[in-house]
Amino acid sequence: MDHRLSPELEELRRTVEEFAHDVVAPKIGDYYERHEFPYEIVREMGRMGLFGLPFPEEYGGMGGDYLALGVALEELARVDSSVAITLEAGVSLGAMPIHLFGTEEQKRRWLPRLCSGEILGAFGLTEPDGGSDAGATRTTARRDPATGEWVINGTKCFITNSGTDITGLVTVTAVTGRKPDGRPEISAIIVPSGTPGFTVAAPYSKVGWNASDTRELSFADVRVPAENLLGEEGRGYAQFLRILDEGRIAIAALATGLAQGCVDESVTYAKERHAFGRPIGANQAIQFKIADMEMKAHTARLAWRDAASRLVAGEPFKKEAALAKLYSSTIAVDNARDATQIHGGYGFMNEYPVARMWRDSKILEIGEGTSEVQRMLIARELGLAG
Ligand SMILES: Cc1cc2nc3c(=O)[nH]c(=O)nc-3n(C[C@H](O)[C@H](O)[C@H](O)COP(=O)(O)OP(=O)(O)OC[C@H]3O[C@@H](n4cnc5c(N)ncnc54)[C@H](O)[C@@H]3O)c2cc1C
Repeated sequence: MDHRLSPELEELRRTVEEFAHDVVAPKIGDYYERHEFPYEIVREMGRMGLFGLPFPEEYGGMGGDYLALGVALEELARVDSSVAITLEAGVSLGAMPIHLFGTEEQKRRWLPRLCSGEILGAFGLTEPDGGSDAGATRTTARRDPATGEWVINGTKCFITNSGTDITGLVTVTAVTGRKPDGRPEISAIIVPSGTPGFTVAAPYSKVGWNASDTRELSFADVRVPAENLLGEEGRGYAQFLRILDEGRIAIAALATGLAQGCVDESVTYAKERHAFGRPIGANQAIQFKIADMEMKAHTARLAWRDAASRLVAGEPFKKEAALAKLYSSTIAVDNARDATQIHGGYGFMNEYPVARMWRDSKILEIGEGTSEVQRMLIARELGLAG
């Protein structure tokens, strides 16, 4: 397998790299400090077609694939993770479920605007009492026999992109019945923003990703038409497992970008900063730290590209996606810690990008499946029953 980029993907990489440096880098620090969603930057990402990267042209997409999405996420996260996670969640969690499981009508209704970035989609799986154990969903959706509508009740927490001015929908998982063995039957249902009874809380105060949107959502007798069911009734659990498998590749690409951004910033700083009469980068202790950071970012890149290539080729990729996510998030945290150390006291100042990278790194070991969950998946793929 050749993990070098094709000429088209290299061109995409360069375009996004330029955008990240010219447009994102100069502005994002202020948005981050103000905990403000960067509408202007997101609009520009939409114009560039980034939200449509892996979707067919007939629905307004760019006709690319998961490799293309990963390349864009990596380049964005080299500079900033808030904009990268906004793209990741918009594409992998917001639009992808509709692309993979939607009816023709649902695709035509939602995908063009999701692909252009005119609206953002969100995916509501996690609940206050169930994150890793997502099968413990308590949100319910029952059919109203008189109208056929779904009536949804429950609460979702930590949902990315769910409360921006341009959020168009959230797909929620809900218990819609019981299987013969008593286990809950879970389905996925599209809830358009603004549906009566659907309340979006104020944004959380977060440790990182401060220019991205994360909210708690509540549903009190929320009614949506029968045709808002996404995919087959009772298949919601299987569907979200597929979405999360793919999403792990995207998070791995994002984590690789953050890890590489730490290298970029450290190399620059180690050349500029002088101590004891010479650049700190002249010290082997600093050089070795940066060499190890580069090694880790490079290896993480190979891992996510391998998983993405398998997905694109239609091969099994579950284990490789979990490996890539586990490894890249671990080394993103390592690199962020080391980059901060190399920056000394300035690394603790929010005006330096490495401070943002340090704050943004930890969530990578938690979101879209914790590191423990990745290890569980890998062990299961190795035939170790749990
Ligand atoms: C900023 C942010 C954005 C997010 N965006 C979204 C989103 O858009 N949509 C969405 O649905 N969710 C979202 N999430 C939720 C995220 O996916 C969950 O937080 C994550 O899956 C972990 O679930 P939890 O928080 O309930 O932790 P828990 O499941 O309660 O886990 C707590 C700890 O126990 C460990 N643990 C649990 N079970 C086991 C086990 N069997 N063996 C060993 N260890 C175990 C976990 O690894 C973890 O360390 C987001 C979270 C954050 C913080």
